[in-house]
Amino acid sequence: MKRILFWSCGGLAAAAIVAALLLFTCVFGNHTYRAATCTEPEICTRCGKTRGEPLGHDDAAATCETPAVCRRCGAVLSEPLGHEFLPADCVIPETCARCRITRGEPLGHVFAPADCTVPEICTRCGITRGEPLGHDMTAPTFQTPAVCTRCGFVGSGTLPPALLGRTLNELAVGVLAPYTTAGYEDRDVDVTGTVEIADYTVMDGDADFPPREGYEWHIATVRIAFEGDDAKSNGALNAWTYGDYYLGDCAMTAADENGLRAFPVDRYGVRVTCWQKTGPAIESDWYDRALRFTWREGVLVPKGYDGVLLIFCNYRLMKDAPGVTPASEVLDEATPVFRMK
Ligand SMILES: [Zn+2]
Ligand SMILES: [Zn+2]
Ligand SMILES: [Zn+2]
Ligand SMILES: [Zn+2]
Ligand SMILES: [Zn+2]
Repeated sequence: MKRILFWSCGGLAAAAIVAALLLFTCVFGNHTYRAATCTEPEICTRCGKTRGEPLGHDDAAATCETPAVCRRCGAVLSEPLGHEFLPADCVIPETCARCRITRGEPLGHVFAPADCTVPEICTRCGITRGEPLGHDMTAPTFQTPAVCTRCGFVGSGTLPPALLGRTLNELAVGVLAPYTTAGYEDRDVDVTGTVEIADYTVMDGDADFPPREGYEWHIATVRIAFEGDDAKSNGALNAWTYGDYYLGDCAMTAADENGLRAFPVDRYGVRVTCWQKTGPAIESDWYDRALRFTWREGVLVPKGYDGVLLIFCNYRLMKDAPGVTPASEVLDEATPVFRMK
């Protein structure tokens, strides 16, 4: 009985020890693990034994203005990124490449002035505003095309001459051409001879043709001759007038006391006064079987002017004194014309 007691006592003690070991130690493998955290694995609260790995932080990424923070533990993992501002342009302020937040104001356009062909244009971004100004063209003249007063652009074409495209029977120097006019005795009868520009010269002037500053004399030596029987019996009345290639008619005044007739030409858009003079006769008679008239016919024009037309017409078409009848009333394709250019 005593032995049983002993054993009983011994059993109680052993049970108590086992209970204590269970309660206070982990000798039976009965660890009590605390949950793992971001930085620590599961860990036994009694013995400190660990199991597994830390969870690691649950990283909520940083933004421009907020740091990276662990969603679980709140640990700050990195600093805010800060904005990455892209440069402003004409219409958009500085803008963060990441979050699109803006800073400041757009730069605004810097417009270069419009010109004739290009509208206002931003020197920074190339955007345009409005319309080009368009050329500011001068009027064309007979000698010069229209030109832009702003940029110098040259238009196409000069002012069309009045006689442009007209077929003219133009005389060449030293070449005889048929010339028909009225007879002297019977003015209703035509007489045919020849007209020739025997010589043509451009010069400052001489005793018969007084020089003038800025002008030059264009002088044709004209020879008109009649040799046929019709002229022999009837005589002939030679006649001439003037025209202008550009203006058409040549508006000559009556001759002044020096034998000069004034007439206007249009040069570079400006009316310029010119003068005409018929020189003294060199020949004006019958020579053997020929009735010849030779004289010098001159026009005093601005240097280089090339528009004066000396026109040999039928006397019957002359209305007034020679040289005054408008060219448009006598000029046709057969009328001999000499352009004094
Ligand atoms: Zn333990
Ligand atoms: Zn954490
Ligand atoms: Zn940003
Ligand atoms: Zn711009
Ligand atoms: Zn222009």
